[in-house]
Amino acid sequence: PPDVEVIGKSSWTLLHSIAATYPETPDNKQQLDLKQFLKLFGNFYPCWYCGDDFKEYLGKNEPKVDTQDAFGRWLCDAHNEVNVKLGKPKFDCNLWKQRWKDGWEE
Ligand code: FAD
Repeated sequence: PPDVEVIGKSSWTLLHSIAATYPETPDNKQQLDLKQFLKLFGNFYPCWYCGDDFKEYLGKNEPKVDTQDAFGRWLCDAHNEVNVKLGKPKFDCNLWKQRWKDGWEE
């Protein structure tokens, strides 16, 4: 259904943008808050099977929240997992910051 795609693209934009503005050296509370946010994001994600898969991924792959780049790459890997599931090409995670911090036109 189109909603799953529209919500998906908007959600990835939000999540990768959060990575791009996450501190380079987050304090303890920021790290804990981000982990909590990801879990709750999965809980309330408007496509239930998407949210379930995301929470399963979270359970198997502890979010890396100790630096901005570590989180950006973790999130890129999580997105790639969904890309593969949907038969979409994998994104080169070395480019995550270029795409989401500096920005580029598609
Ligand atoms: P999107 O995948 O939405 O990507 C948007 C843009 O992000 C791309 O154009 C590209 O520039 C960039 N990008 C692509 N890959 C990466 C990456 N790895 N890292 C950084 N940037 C990248 N859909 C389903 O049908 N089934 C599901 O189970 C499902 N689970 C989802 C779980 C979550 C948590 C989210 C947020 C979305 C999920 N979706 C799911 C939606 C799906 O991932 C896509 O968002 C949707 O299919 C629209 O795809 P798109 O081609 O517009 O690009």
